[in-house]
Amino acid sequence: MNKFKNKTEQDFWVECVRHAERLNEIKGSISEAKWHKNDYVEYADKMLKEFREKQTNISPNDGGCWFCHTKSGNMVFDTEFDTYVHVACIRKALKKNSNDPEAKLMKYLLK
Ligand SMILES: [Zn+2]
Repeated sequence: MNKFKNKTEQDFWVECVRHAERLNEIKGSISEAKWHKNDYVEYADKMLKEFREKQTNISPNDGGCWFCHTKSGNMVFDTEFDTYVHVACIRKALKKNSNDPEAKLMKYLLK
């Protein structure tokens, strides 16, 4: 069983478990309620899920594509909306709807 897609994810998960352990040590010294090992795993799983969402959903404000919210491959900068965008995503948007107002304003990037 391997729930990690790559080493980065695994490292992140391990770091989350360590973090939970440290929290437990602090908490343990001031209260009786100690976490069980399963709680660490649950916590780390939750953090990993959020981590993945952040990797796959990058808002245009954070440099992600205006249309698909990812950051990969060849991107161009659109000065109309001050955002990065994939040329392929502009084409896709126009194919879907040739009157897409945003895609139409970005048409100049297709040349
Ligand atoms: Zn895109």
